[in-house]
Amino acid sequence: MAEGYNGYLADTRKEVERVCAACENKSCNGACEITKRISNFPGLMADVISEKKLFKHPMPEQDPIERAKNFDEVTLGYTAEMAIEEAKRCLNCPNPRCRTGCPVSVRIPEFIAKVAKGDFEGAYTVITSTNSLPAVCGRVCPQEKQCESKCVRGLKGESVAIGRLERFVADYHNTLSEEQKTPPAILPPNGHKVAVIGSGPSGLTCAGDLCKMGYDVTVFEAFHKSGGVLVYGIPQFRLPKEIVQLEVENLKKMGVNIVNNAIIGKSITVDELFEDGYEAVYIGSGAGLPQFLHIPGENLMGVYSANEILTRTNLMKAYRADYDTPLKHFHNVAVVGGGNVAMDAARVAKRLSDGHVYITYRRGIDELPARKEEVEHAKEEGVEFALLNNPVSVVGNDDGFVTGIELVKQELGEPDEKGRRSPVPVEGSNWVLPCDAVIIAIGTSPNPLIKNTTEGLTITRKGGIETDPETGKTSREGVFCGGDAATGSATVILAMGAGKIGAKSIDEYIKAKNK
Ligand SMILES: Cc1cc2nc3c(=O)[nH]c(=O)nc-3n(C[C@H](O)[C@H](O)[C@H](O)COP(=O)(O)OP(=O)(O)OC[C@H]3O[C@@H](n4cnc5c(N)ncnc54)[C@H](O)[C@@H]3O)c2cc1C
Ligand code: SF4
Ligand code: SF4
Repeated sequence: MAEGYNGYLADTRKEVERVCAACENKSCNGACEITKRISNFPGLMADVISEKKLFKHPMPEQDPIERAKNFDEVTLGYTAEMAIEEAKRCLNCPNPRCRTGCPVSVRIPEFIAKVAKGDFEGAYTVITSTNSLPAVCGRVCPQEKQCESKCVRGLKGESVAIGRLERFVADYHNTLSEEQKTPPAILPPNGHKVAVIGSGPSGLTCAGDLCKMGYDVTVFEAFHKSGGVLVYGIPQFRLPKEIVQLEVENLKKMGVNIVNNAIIGKSITVDELFEDGYEAVYIGSGAGLPQFLHIPGENLMGVYSANEILTRTNLMKAYRADYDTPLKHFHNVAVVGGGNVAMDAARVAKRLSDGHVYITYRRGIDELPARKEEVEHAKEEGVEFALLNNPVSVVGNDDGFVTGIELVKQELGEPDEKGRRSPVPVEGSNWVLPCDAVIIAIGTSPNPLIKNTTEGLTITRKGGIETDPETGKTSREGVFCGGDAATGSATVILAMGAGKIGAKSIDEYIKAKNK
């Protein structure tokens, strides 16, 4: 069979090259290239022919009607059997394209091969040799744009479920006793101190990598809990906070020191950190400052930033009866925005309201910047979409409370410089959507505190700290930066990738300085 099959592949390739003259007359639709690419992966071609293993093993999920009333995790994770079955879809490509899509260079085929053999702890060791937060990445990485977008299985059918497998491996590790866990490889202490500002994914990754290299690392975090947006932004039902705390604990056990309730720029400045003997500083302070619409009525009671709603519910557990955090009881809610933050805010509002929750967005469904999966989950849970509508004012009563949001209908015009069709207002189409709360989720920018209290940092037009993306170096010697603080709001995995780059550069900088 194998011989006959390989012969079939060779014949297919030859035939494609012989008969496909379309390229010559410029009418090529790329069919020959696709056929060649597929036929270069024998396992994939076999599955295409037999129509087996073309799709990911589905992820078990809570029922949408049930979950819209609770804050428990929506996706339930693979069982060991499902994970092994999914891992067997990996073709173990000699030149794994999936790795090129991972900003922290997880050795994907290696860890998946271990899962396929049932060696889950071995898989964990492979993943954590480059990724300090696998349980987080497995849940919230935009895999469809990263590793999975490059997976050769996606040429016909669906990519291997790399993220789900990563989550399974990390969750399995977290169920083991301390004796069963393989300790991480850490170099002996080298006597050099580094300070990291912020315990979000960027700061934690930088700290974890430096710790493994033998540095004495201290993370300074403004909040009383560590994790950045992972604890105060992304909702409990997408990323349980217990999972984030386990990953933080794993880093602490490795030797990373974390000082909470320490605001750099207030409690202590960057200059004072250097005076205290830190040889380098990594700024991973994120982009936590919410943006507003600046429209009439935005000061009415009942208008919130998404940050406020999400912080109250996630970090301060406003949804739980045993917490004192105050939060208004919602009936009808309008969320302004179309990104992941808007979807999170709407899904949180849905769980806290007894009425309708609407996403109002000035473009259409195809232009929503949120992950498709998040949009689908929001729809399943009953969030309604008032698309092609732009807010122009918030309407209130004499007591100063919100009673509605005034919207203008939009049509899609010409594409902008990013290729997205621009919204054009339809004259005279103003209408009021009745609601008692408006949540603004249109983006965030970096907090200016560090830049205002640190000499020598250059700031970008958008308020970020100017940073060389190749090295994480800022305009000030010994100060490095990465993640949202440099780029503005982006993704967990890009922030982690920047943390890794920062750690490598800090190591090179301190070694060169001490030569
Ligand atoms: C609601 C929401 C949902 C999201 N969903 C996703 C998703 O599904 N997938 C995805 O990939 N990305 C998502 N993102 C984006 C992602 O979370 C961020 O890009 C990422 O967290 C940035 O990491 P960071 O480490 O740069 O910053 P942050 O996570 O913001 O962490 C910065 C930390 O620094 C601390 N800090 C700030 N200033 C100081 C100071 N002066 N002193 C000490 N500490 C300070 C902050 O308290 C914070 O803990 C989401 C963002 C939000 C808001
Ligand atoms: S860290 Fe993210 S991008 Fe990298 S392999 Fe894991 S899921 Fe994919
Ligand atoms: S995950 Fe996809 S690209 Fe990566 S080795 Fe497996 S089949 Fe190949």
